[in-house]
Amino acid sequence: MANPEQSIIETRAAQMFFKLEPAEIERARRFGTCRAYAAGEALANVGEVAQGLTLIISGHVDVLQRQQSGPHRLIVTHGPGSFMGELAQLSGRPALIDGYAKDAVQALVIPTERLRALLIAEAELGERIMRALILRRVGLIETGGGGPVIVGRAGNGDVLRLQNFLRRNGHPHQSLDSETDSEARALIEKFHIDPGQLPIVVCPSGQLLRNPSETELARCIGMLGPIDPNKVYDVAVVGAGPAGLATAVYAASEGLSVLVFDCRAFGGQAGASARIENYLGFPTGISGMALMGRAFSQAQKFGAEIAIPSEVVGVEVPNGAADRYFSLTLANNERARARTVVAANGARYRRLDVEGLEAFEAASVHYWASPLESRLCEGEEVALVGAGNSAGQATVYLASQAAKVWLLVRGPDLAASMSRYLVDRINGLANVEVLTRTQIAGLEGEDGALAAIRWRDGAGQETRRPIRHLFSFIGVEPNTDWLAGSGVALDAKGFVVTGKDAAFPLETNVHGLFAVGDIRSASVKRVAACVGEGAQVVAALHRHFAAEEEAAAQP
Ligand SMILES: Cc1cc2nc3c(=O)[nH]c(=O)nc-3n(C[C@H](O)[C@H](O)[C@H](O)COP(=O)(O)OP(=O)(O)OC[C@H]3O[C@@H](n4cnc5c(N)ncnc54)[C@H](O)[C@@H]3O)c2cc1C
Repeated sequence: MANPEQSIIETRAAQMFFKLEPAEIERARRFGTCRAYAAGEALANVGEVAQGLTLIISGHVDVLQRQQSGPHRLIVTHGPGSFMGELAQLSGRPALIDGYAKDAVQALVIPTERLRALLIAEAELGERIMRALILRRVGLIETGGGGPVIVGRAGNGDVLRLQNFLRRNGHPHQSLDSETDSEARALIEKFHIDPGQLPIVVCPSGQLLRNPSETELARCIGMLGPIDPNKVYDVAVVGAGPAGLATAVYAASEGLSVLVFDCRAFGGQAGASARIENYLGFPTGISGMALMGRAFSQAQKFGAEIAIPSEVVGVEVPNGAADRYFSLTLANNERARARTVVAANGARYRRLDVEGLEAFEAASVHYWASPLESRLCEGEEVALVGAGNSAGQATVYLASQAAKVWLLVRGPDLAASMSRYLVDRINGLANVEVLTRTQIAGLEGEDGALAAIRWRDGAGQETRRPIRHLFSFIGVEPNTDWLAGSGVALDAKGFVVTGKDAAFPLETNVHGLFAVGDIRSASVKRVAACVGEGAQVVAALHRHFAAEEEAAAQP
């Protein structure tokens, strides 16, 4: 069995750094161009877009990880038959490592687009290369290699916000506690930072950001670039949860040009689920992040362009001959054009109606229960509000880390709203106490950190417990603000209506604008249903384009 203390490089080195056979190198030649490098020459620099995947024909290349202090760390030396690259090469993002020729090197450089062609054309070799790229990224995430360094007080709301953002997007990073870490103090002195300006982020390029927004950080580390306003995509997908990613995978793999937007991270609600146990084909369950991370890489492998974080705030529908395309407006006023739009941007959490909630939301009130949150409340008592399946899953998961979980339910029991298997599991957990007909009465604390929670039972009796973390899972409402003014029909609860006054089942009443997943009226709120709808909508897109072409061909 693998030792959890061992790094992925120790346990999976053979898959991460395998060598291509001479016959495979010959077959790969048609995808790249040969280049020569002198000893000492750089093949990749942290923060700069690398040329693509680099297959070594002769000579050796050292791959190094930059450290904040001290010498760079040697990760691996590539020799003939091995290749340099990781997931950044799939989407043309900046390199996370430095690579230097150790001696005279001859290499086959395969640019991003051709790499994607190789992965698809050479199925078996492509599978091994894809696995190596993913494992190398996991290795960098383990050590924080090549990513930004966050300096601030551990547990601070903004530190958590930035860590969460990078973690959810599978981007390596390091955190240094400004109160205990000597390297953190050195950086604070070096950049003359006042305590009030923390957290700071030092990007791999050396650029310093003071308590940045997620967008500022993403731009600084090359995760997000400008959108080409003149390019017309076949389909723009709003939302990179399971429904949006499935749409992207099926559309891109069938030759459509695809642009996906997400305002936060790939994976949506599913990505934040600690364990999905009912998704077909995973009898032992799979973490939402692992499932969605695979889908994200798959979409990129087929050439879907993904812009994160990018919030879509409006859409203009085509108005006849004057403008034949949809135009999406982003929060930063950028625009993107597409022949069709798929709304796959799900729903957002309802917020508890408790005075002062907002003040505690950055650090103490959570709408997800992922390993990040569970680590914060290890060995502590926590309170969780909700009675649906997501509340049940979060309860089971948190119970494995927390000293005790108080599950507060407004109704008379759990069975009406939660799957039987979860109710049974919760009943079997000694450290979970279910309080029915109970509601939160008040929150106490200071500086954004909760110190105690008060709740009231059906008889009006109030209880106060010293609890620092509150989890809220009380249902969702659809994210349809950006559709205002588009004419898209919504149902009485605000979800998008499909299949009515439309040519196709997943189309809205606006021709060419489709909706899939949780945002759709009467949808089944399950990952499998979202993925199925993503596949289904692409068939409808093809029929839509065929009908358009037929109409254009009419005299
Ligand atoms: C804790 C939890 C556990 C769950 N467990 C399971 C389970 O075990 N099994 C199961 O089948 N289902 C489970 N679900 C339900 C499942 O996760 C959802 O049904 C599914 O994620 C919905 O997918 P979606 O793609 O429609 O939307 P979402 O997953 O909600 O994704 C929508 C995406 O759109 C983005 N977005 C929103 N507005 C905008 C905008 N204006 N511009 C750009 N981007 C935007 C969001 O950031 C988000 O990433 C769980 C849900 C939760 C919360």
